[in-house]
Amino acid sequence: MSIEKFSVEKVLSVQRWTNTLFSFTMTRPAHFKFTAGQFARIGLKVGDELVVRAYSIVSSPFDETLEFFSIVVPDGAFTSNLQHLQVGDELYLEKIPYGFLTLTRYQLPLPQDLWLLATGTGLAPFVSMLQDFDTWSKYQHIYLVYSVRTASELAYVERIQEIAQTFGEGHTGFKFVPIVTRDPQAVLHDRLPILIENGALEQAVGCQLNPATSHVMLCGNPQMVEDTKEALKARGLTMNRRGEGNIAVENYW
Ligand SMILES: Cc1cc2nc3c(=O)[nH]c(=O)nc-3n(C[C@H](O)[C@H](O)[C@H](O)COP(=O)(O)OP(=O)(O)OC[C@H]3O[C@@H](n4cnc5c(N)ncnc54)[C@H](O)[C@@H]3O)c2cc1C
Repeated sequence: MSIEKFSVEKVLSVQRWTNTLFSFTMTRPAHFKFTAGQFARIGLKVGDELVVRAYSIVSSPFDETLEFFSIVVPDGAFTSNLQHLQVGDELYLEKIPYGFLTLTRYQLPLPQDLWLLATGTGLAPFVSMLQDFDTWSKYQHIYLVYSVRTASELAYVERIQEIAQTFGEGHTGFKFVPIVTRDPQAVLHDRLPILIENGALEQAVGCQLNPATSHVMLCGNPQMVEDTKEALKARGLTMNRRGEGNIAVENYW
């Protein structure tokens, strides 16, 4: 991999949510422009080797710094090293952003109801989208659905509330819906595809999934993405291709 494709950035902050989840911010070079929902390719020197992985950008396209939300995979080539990150460390950032999980991809149906469905760190691109005033002005309803295994993994909950107040001021159609799959006491604890099949998700937000009005984005665990896609298709929703259709997805592995 050619090192010229990267700029060297400095870590500005690290926030640890649990033993296996953390967020960090780094300097943002002036040339690095992106659309909310896109991902960056981040490199870390491990010995002489540059290990590079894709990371959805959490921060807003208007922020001065770049924020990311990471899992720790115990034997993962990247995250078993990244987990020791400290303020002042250097990271490599590929100079251009990537990805098509952006709201600009939707032409038809026209924007009305936005469903953002995430598992784990798949929340990241949606936090970025919610920090863009365009998102709030385009959609009458925005449902952010965040599925985790245990309540301790519900990172960003306070930030989401703050963002909804700041960016969605006066917007009455926003709902945040946490799902905790290993807690039978949680209001919603089934996997997303089941909650779609049995109507519980629609009941929780008070709105129907509808091919004529819904834009649905899925991000995170590929099994969740696949099964949820099928559940949505069974409800008449279609994959978004060349601007038309309801469903857009991003798989993390
Ligand atoms: C477009 C895109 C965007 C991504 N954005 C993010 C992001 O914002 N945050 C993030 O943490 N990861 C993200 N990933 C995954 C990331 O690129 C790495 O896979 C992850 O950092 C683990 O790297 P690793 O080398 O330690 O393990 P890898 O060898 O890359 O992965 C080993 C295994 O760990 C599991 N795994 C990988 N990533 C995750 C994850 N995020 N959550 C749960 N299990 C996982 C899978 O079972 C995978 O097979 C993204 C991937 C893609 C393709």
